[in-house]
Amino acid sequence: MAIDHPNGNPLPPPDQDRREEVLPCGRDVGTVYDHLTRGGGLDDHELSCPHCRGAAAEFAPVLQATELLRDEPAEPPPGFVESIMARIHATRSRGWRLPLPAEHPLHLAITEHAAATVLAAAASEVAGVTVDRCHFPEHGDPTRLQINLTLRQRTPVSLIVERVRKAVRTAARRQLGLELRTIDVRVDDIHL
Ligand SMILES: [Zn+2]
Repeated sequence: MAIDHPNGNPLPPPDQDRREEVLPCGRDVGTVYDHLTRGGGLDDHELSCPHCRGAAAEFAPVLQATELLRDEPAEPPPGFVESIMARIHATRSRGWRLPLPAEHPLHLAITEHAAATVLAAAASEVAGVTVDRCHFPEHGDPTRLQINLTLRQRTPVSLIVERVRKAVRTAARRQLGLELRTIDVRVDDIHL
């Protein structure tokens, strides 16, 4: 499945820097993107790996957009695809590094983007949840996370939000050694 705009122009792929970004599991973003977009789909590793799934989830809006464009012969609203790409770029541009706990004298840091990707993957493990966006809203503050969701289940919202908070808090602690003080969950949409 190649991603094509209705007028035949392919959607912009991730730029070269982004493609070469190596996930904590050792796979690069470009490979995951290619598997996601060029038929065949994600391989066994990518399906079971939270880092790869996180990277794939990040491109999900692009894929959903193309699904929509394919099913819908009518013109999408002007600027639709551009606004999605802008959102992805905006998420990427917050490139500060979070300090992680490490034994003295070691210093360990992870990009805000990579940390958010790990946590977005954890949140999307919760049944009925699609992560629209996940980021640390306060530059330099690794204790506060904001996560935007679309829900697609009839489970009470408060219950799902609690599950998401718990999944994210646990992943932050286990995978990053990070203690989140505030997890701001925003439900953008509900698809029944
Ligand atoms: Zn992986």
